[in-house]
Amino acid sequence: TYNFCAGPAMLPVEVMQQAQEELINWHGRGCSIMEMSHRGKDFMQVAAQAEQDLRDLLAIPDNYKVLFMHGGGRGQFSAVPLNLAKTGVSADYIVSGAWSKAAVEEAEKFTALKAQNIQLKQDGLRTLVPASEWQLNDNASFVHFCPNETVDGMEFIDLPTTNAPLVADLSSTILSRHLDVSRYGVIYAGAQKNIGPSGLTLTIVREDLLPVKGSSIPSVLDYRLAADNDSMFNTPPTYAWYLAGLVFQWLKRQGGVEAMQQRNALKAQTLYGYIDQSDFYRNDVAPQFRSSMNVPFLLGDETLNDLFVSEAESNGLLALKGHRMVGGMRASIYNAMPLEGVQTLVTFMKEFERVHG
Ligand code: PLP
Repeated sequence: TYNFCAGPAMLPVEVMQQAQEELINWHGRGCSIMEMSHRGKDFMQVAAQAEQDLRDLLAIPDNYKVLFMHGGGRGQFSAVPLNLAKTGVSADYIVSGAWSKAAVEEAEKFTALKAQNIQLKQDGLRTLVPASEWQLNDNASFVHFCPNETVDGMEFIDLPTTNAPLVADLSSTILSRHLDVSRYGVIYAGAQKNIGPSGLTLTIVREDLLPVKGSSIPSVLDYRLAADNDSMFNTPPTYAWYLAGLVFQWLKRQGGVEAMQQRNALKAQTLYGYIDQSDFYRNDVAPQFRSSMNVPFLLGDETLNDLFVSEAESNGLLALKGHRMVGGMRASIYNAMPLEGVQTLVTFMKEFERVHG
């Protein structure tokens, strides 16, 4: 089977096999890594290796802390303003879709902010205002944006030019393409798409943005406390951290992020290419803003939606039902999805079109 779920998503098969082999007797220790103290030598080593591998993969500069936190993407929706907002200064929020809108709704509880919507419809297509045209305040405490909108299937690459620190929700795109960490103040991502199981949340934060010691931030969301305690202020999601480490090693074996970017581009071209030449399926996102991770598509005849989903499932193609806000179908094709998975989907789509078109 191939699992096209938007999250929690498919993990690489090799990683699942290794985890299965190691599950109840990790490296001959007689118990699972899941059952070991996070302060013991074994887990500390697993944790440090995972961080180092991630640092290698993303070439994370030394003046950035890597935090393995709890609470998912939504936890960071609160953590970002709690850690970064300055008293009496507002933040800029860019709204390109459902998740950046949800981030605004949460942040409004903690900071003054200015939100601007950059998604619009043009000639029947959903498109985005390019980063060069965003209205930004150089003195804002930070600029928050989400370059890949998982629900909307929209992605942008260009970064704005501003003096304010850039804060990006990379939940559904981290490790899928080249990233220059030094351009950002904070990067965060829920693990459950390109990293590992849900629960674990990765935050990469430039040291000068850590809050001062003793801030009145809930402890589990406090970047300073997490950094000063090597992400072990409270018990971290140890098993998810270990699995993330296996994924990072797998990514290194694949050739790293640049190799993934090429592979992901080919997967996306294969799927969009087929959709575009078909009269039966369509994608309504302007081509320059199409996501390479989350591909929504619509059937001309919407009464066939349920049949498409159930026949796909019978053919081992799982979780293709679109998000209720967008409708139709959505194929999420994160790092762990091989090209053959996308090719198998296209073959199925062709056959479905032949029979029902
Ligand atoms: N941000 C993005 C881009 C997402 O795709 C998601 C979930 O899919 C979230 C945030 C929310 O993450 P969580 O469910 O881990 O809170």
